[in-house]
Amino acid sequence: MQSVLVSAPAKVNLALAVGAVRADGFHSLSTVYQAVDVCDEVRASRTHGPEITVTLDSAAPTGVPRGRDNLAVRAAELLRRHARISEGVVLAIRKVIPVGGGMAGGSTDAAATLVACDALWELRTPRNELLALAAELGSDVPFCLLGGTALGTGRGELVSPVLTRGTYHWVFGISDEGLSTRKVYAEFDRLVDPEPSVAPAVSDRLMGALVAADPVRLAHALHNDLQAPAMALRPELGRSLAMAAECGALGGIVSGSGPTLMFLAADRAHALDLAAALDASRVCEDVLTAIGPVPGARIIAHD
Ligand code: ATP
Repeated sequence: MQSVLVSAPAKVNLALAVGAVRADGFHSLSTVYQAVDVCDEVRASRTHGPEITVTLDSAAPTGVPRGRDNLAVRAAELLRRHARISEGVVLAIRKVIPVGGGMAGGSTDAAATLVACDALWELRTPRNELLALAAELGSDVPFCLLGGTALGTGRGELVSPVLTRGTYHWVFGISDEGLSTRKVYAEFDRLVDPEPSVAPAVSDRLMGALVAADPVRLAHALHNDLQAPAMALRPELGRSLAMAAECGALGGIVSGSGPTLMFLAADRAHALDLAAALDASRVCEDVLTAIGPVPGARIIAHD
């Protein structure tokens, strides 16, 4: 194989319950992830030397590292070390997922790179080993491998699939300026400071709505403990949420650590209407529609 192309879907958190900071510095989480079809693409191509390099498409936003700080490069380095090989690779990333938007853009590029390099280097790494490497790279990376809809516990890295029916139609309100995940958690600690003895938990209501394929019930069960801290740092998010409700969204919350906002629509036609209304209201810099759940990082072409 000379090159492998992998699609890397973004994630949203349908529920995000945050607990106290653990001894290792991470917050304990209980979350329901869903992969949505807003996708970056990562192409891994053979190279003769041992270098691992990354290129970005010309439309890629600023703020994506082009060197070793890029999570995709770290993923390729980690897999190579794990496999005890010395191959290099050229990673070409086509960015679509908003950067610093709380949709795990960096994490999904890392997951896609693990899949791409595993195939390119013909390693056939067992799935459980890939998941363990993913967890080393970041709390969201194992889910980005798995995709679909899944419960995440621990610091978010322990993932198990959740029974869901139906397809959900999402509309995303995108901000030009990202929000630092670290700062949002710091604001959470300042505002909430949860008891270490209380384990974070997601509601049965949300799980029931997913089994019933009921977008109205799901909309009422959406929950994010990071919403209040994200809104404290970015007060205009509250105004945008209120505007989306006026535009007819079934429900809406901040996605992950924000500032992306996610709104649920009843069906595709409703999603398109809602997106048009939000676009016209100019409360967000950009508006995207997507469906979920979709599979995690997977090969879409190779040669
Ligand atoms: P999360 O939802 O996992 O908290 P996010 O979606 O808010 O993450 P990302 O888009 O993943 O944020 O990017 C956060 C930071 O990670 C960026 O500001 C950038 O410096 C760095 N980064 C490293 N690799 C990448 C990548 N491949 N794509 C985007 N950002 C990356």
